[in-house]
Amino acid sequence: MNNSLDKIYLDYAATTPVDERVIEAMLPYFNRQFGNPSSVHIFGQEAEAALEGGRETIARILDVSAGEIVFTGCGTESDNLALRGIALERKLRYGADRILISPVEHHAVSRTARQLADHFGFRVEFLKVDSFGIVDPDYLRRIIDRDVAIVSVIYGNNEIGSINPVEELGKICRNYDVPFHVDAVQAAAHLPMRGIGNWCDAASFGAHKFYGPKGVGALFIRKGTPILPIQTGGGQENGIRSGTQNVPYIVGMAKAFELAQTEGLKNQASLIQHRDRIISSALENIKGIYLTGHPIKRLANHASFVFEGVDGNQLLILLDAAGFACSSGSACKTGDPKPSEVLLALGISPQVALGSLRVTVGKYTTLNEVEKFVTALPLLVNKIRKLLMELKGG
Ligand SMILES: *Cc1c(COP(=O)(O)O)cnc(C)c1O
Repeated sequence: MNNSLDKIYLDYAATTPVDERVIEAMLPYFNRQFGNPSSVHIFGQEAEAALEGGRETIARILDVSAGEIVFTGCGTESDNLALRGIALERKLRYGADRILISPVEHHAVSRTARQLADHFGFRVEFLKVDSFGIVDPDYLRRIIDRDVAIVSVIYGNNEIGSINPVEELGKICRNYDVPFHVDAVQAAAHLPMRGIGNWCDAASFGAHKFYGPKGVGALFIRKGTPILPIQTGGGQENGIRSGTQNVPYIVGMAKAFELAQTEGLKNQASLIQHRDRIISSALENIKGIYLTGHPIKRLANHASFVFEGVDGNQLLILLDAAGFACSSGSACKTGDPKPSEVLLALGISPQVALGSLRVTVGKYTTLNEVEKFVTALPLLVNKIRKLLMELKGG
């Protein structure tokens, strides 16, 4: 049987392996200190101490207060809670019914906004981005007003790697008392998150993007921000997200976040070295290839391209067969033959957008792996193009 052991993983933007130290930290909370953090007895107290310890760790990293951290089931849930919760509450209280998002959001934000428009009476308006997918603050300045329920912008883009000027955008929103949400799920492994509360009102995180477990996330929600609970029940998480907390995963998320924001941020230089080797080698050795996203203002681990005359899915299959695990852009869309909305928003033609490739490195990527990849890629791209020519010619 074919297995993944001898393969080269270059899809860290889709998910990351869990760091051994994180697994170690989680283990006691499955069976030894297994209590329900809401219980009064000693079992509950131990679980509650672990839960609150995790909350304090994340609050300290962000330099916010512990009461401003809400644990969720994933990054997607954090995005949903922020968008739906804040938009609905602002509409109930103030009649605010406009939602401003960028055209390069993750589906967790864009599809939620679309549902709020289709079924809850909101108007969704898109901010302007340049050809690198970076949001234009001046356009936001022109269209924002107090009737906006929420503004939501992705911090580091999962598909194209571009980093948005979120601090500037947040300050514009604050002038109008309009809540500003950032999807920081992809950025949290690469950019300092300290002081985020100085310019945003809500920020989404997901542990599995920074060497933590899948299925746990967090939402920073600034004190006083209007938010309607989306999940009701026992009143956990300050009443904002009911449900018994996943204590071992929360402990793991806190540990992973701490590692990511300390040693992780210190080790960005080697990611950048790998990323730039992949980008420069691809652009040098392949014709009809374009970098997507900003050449400099991009996540340290992120290389993304489109090709003329190449089917992205076909390329992924050939890469996989050759032992390289990459992505066409977003893990959530695999098997979807439609071109990415994010790439179309950059002005890329639908035909070329179908030829996309995302290569994302991580802390376990080696130079040897990168060299193998940059040798293989031009050969595989040529192979696909040749096949296509033969099909057309025959
Ligand atoms: C992965 C990702 C999400 C979704 O997070 P999950 O934990 O996988 O649900 C949302 N936004 C961005 C930018 C992401 O990269």
